Amino acid sequence: MKLVIQSFTVLFVLLLTGCSTSTKEDHNDLHTKTIYSHELSSPSHPFSSLNDEPKEWGEHVTGVKNRMKTDELKVALTFDLCGGPFGNQLDEAIVDYLRSEQIPATLFVNERWILDNETVFLELANDDLFEIENHGSEHVPLSVTGQEAYGIQGTTHALEVTEEVLSNQRTITERTGSSPSFFRSGTAYYDEVSVEIVQALGLEVVNFDVIGDAGATYSADQVQQAMERVSPGSIILLHLNQPESDVSEGVKRAIPTLRANGYTFVHLNEFPLE
Ligand SMILES: [Zn+2]
Repeated sequence: MKLVIQSFTVLFVLLLTGCSTSTKEDHNDLHTKTIYSHELSSPSHPFSSLNDEPKEWGEHVTGVKNRMKTDELKVALTFDLCGGPFGNQLDEAIVDYLRSEQIPATLFVNERWILDNETVFLELANDDLFEIENHGSEHVPLSVTGQEAYGIQGTTHALEVTEEVLSNQRTITERTGSSPSFFRSGTAYYDEVSVEIVQALGLEVVNFDVIGDAGATYSADQVQQAMERVSPGSIILLHLNQPESDVSEGVKRAIPTLRANGYTFVHLNEFPLE
């Protein structure tokens, strides 16, 4: 947590000094600007790209991790809990199944979901089977220029990016006593400058190489077929907040097949990511 706060402080100074398009710059402390301006002009400075317009937009932009680095037959199940008016439920059928089969999973939880489900959140967080990670505060795409994904307006500048990450980071840390290491945005879209900001805050941005349920819209057959396309080190994206969907049925069909093929299931933090 200390590292996160330190990183945020450094980043905040850089934001004040480095964003030429920001109107806030006019009100900056000139002394601070003088001290740091030479660092920002150095191409070797780790945050030098904060001065740049982003060039990439998508789910797999530079810096996003999509797989675990291993040749072993290991797969990470990752479930998003998105929150909001249509996303604040819990698919208990999946939780019950994972518990009965003792299958570990990584849960990316949005701040809105936590605030709507305080008791259940703590139950999940206190279960060693589940690793809790950060799925954003307002569940929006991460952009420094206000890009959209699926019609959802993204963050509009670097300071909004930090707040989208850190508000939920604080919420999770206060409740669980441990800080998430991984971040996945709402919609899973980013520009590469936003990814670098998340990294500066001390978190890895983690997406997936297998789309398991297409936003919980797949039929059980489609979920099963998608999950069975894994390879060693795959990260599967699924949803745990849509109990009316066919996701639980698809998961229950796919897991036995994956096990029969020799796969076992791990938390995201058990292997380096790539
Ligand atoms: Zn989500």
